[in-house]
Amino acid sequence: SFAPFSSSASSSSSETNPEDDVKTREHEFKAETSRLLDIVTNSLYQEKEVFLRELISNSSDALEKRRHEAIKDASEYGLKGVQDDLEFRIKISTREEEDGKELKLIVEDNGIGMSEEELTRNLGTIAKSGSKEFLENLSGGKGGKDAASNIIGKFGVGFYSAFMVGKKVEVHTSNGKESFVWASEGTGKFTVSKSNEAPKPRGTKIVIHMKEDCKTIASQWAIEETLKKYSAFVSFPIYINENKY
Ligand code: ADP
Ligand code: MG
Repeated sequence: SFAPFSSSASSSSSETNPEDDVKTREHEFKAETSRLLDIVTNSLYQEKEVFLRELISNSSDALEKRRHEAIKDASEYGLKGVQDDLEFRIKISTREEEDGKELKLIVEDNGIGMSEEELTRNLGTIAKSGSKEFLENLSGGKGGKDAASNIIGKFGVGFYSAFMVGKKVEVHTSNGKESFVWASEGTGKFTVSKSNEAPKPRGTKIVIHMKEDCKTIASQWAIEETLKKYSAFVSFPIYINENKY
């Protein structure tokens, strides 16, 4: 059975680093989430680039929510005070370390953002329908890596699909009041740190540290191909390395 909101991500420790005043909480993924992550991480699924579709769709949802909020604010308080010059957009970029050892793929939106509680709940459990269906179908079938791969294709596994291509994933988010960083290597644990920086512009930035054998997926060409294939109907502008797609 799935109990999405019950102590699913229990806080096991909490510490403050006096030097930078950043508070980090360590959480354990719930058993189901760990299982899902294990399958996603080790699957032989061929079309790993679908992770980008999932992240873009999340960004698009977050932008839609923020737009909705802005419209509500405008009707309540008038247009004054509402940043109507703000462009709601999604930015994809890649960053290679100088030593050529690390490649990061970054998906950034200026959407609604998340609070600490939302971050921990949304990215610590498998409350989401797609992932839940995925696990249910997996346990109903014969199992094995091939079965898992087939099912990954059929059901979007959402945010967690980032671990198909990433050895580490960070989520930087601000809800306009506070900023937090979620980080995990997809094995058992994740951390949530409060950022000591002043709240950034509102939104969410996903940073994927690409696995060695997945680096080609992050080339400009591959990203464009993936967008053509999966994300043609996103209603917000998308930039790839600063260029409008
Ligand atoms: P789903 O999109 O089906 O809800 P996901 O696993 O893709 O499932 O995402 C889980 C949740 O995490 C989302 O429902 C949302 O609440 C939150 N989330 C993910 N990405 C973002 C983002 N870029 N901005 C704000 N919230 C996000
Ligand atoms: Mg999603």
